[in-house]
Amino acid sequence: MTESKTLKISEAEWEVMRVIWAKGKTTSPEIISILSTSMDWKPATIKTLLSRLVKKQILLTELEGNKFIYQPLVSEEQTMRSATEQLFSKICAKKVGKTIAELIEEADLTQTDLALILTAVDKKEKTAVKTIACNCIPGQCDCSEHQHRD
Ligand SMILES: [Zn+2]
Repeated sequence: MTESKTLKISEAEWEVMRVIWAKGKTTSPEIISILSTSMDWKPATIKTLLSRLVKKQILLTELEGNKFIYQPLVSEEQTMRSATEQLFSKICAKKVGKTIAELIEEADLTQTDLALILTAVDKKEKTAVKTIACNCIPGQCDCSEHQHRD
């Protein structure tokens, strides 16, 4: 596990980051005006989230003139990847494939998306392993590997 690289970001912080990722560079009044209407959050709440993101080094703040400018230090793609890794680290390695299949079934996908997925599947087919070992802590998984009763 590469714990040092995992970004811990809450749902609320993610909402703030989405605004900043979309804008690239923005000010707190701008962020507040978007999120106070769309999320019905108080300015103080948004300011707290901003300072938390700065502390976590996900966001950079600089004084420009008399305004604080915010800009992302981490890309949306990096954050998404980290969140996906965190999600998959919570389930048994043996269940990852089934989970991915379920995600595909439930997602709204275009033909372009499907082409991407099919290319990925094609590539994977060449390196697919026969079996996957359970990586769970004994007692946290119902895999046969952990059932010592017969
Ligand atoms: Zn397991």
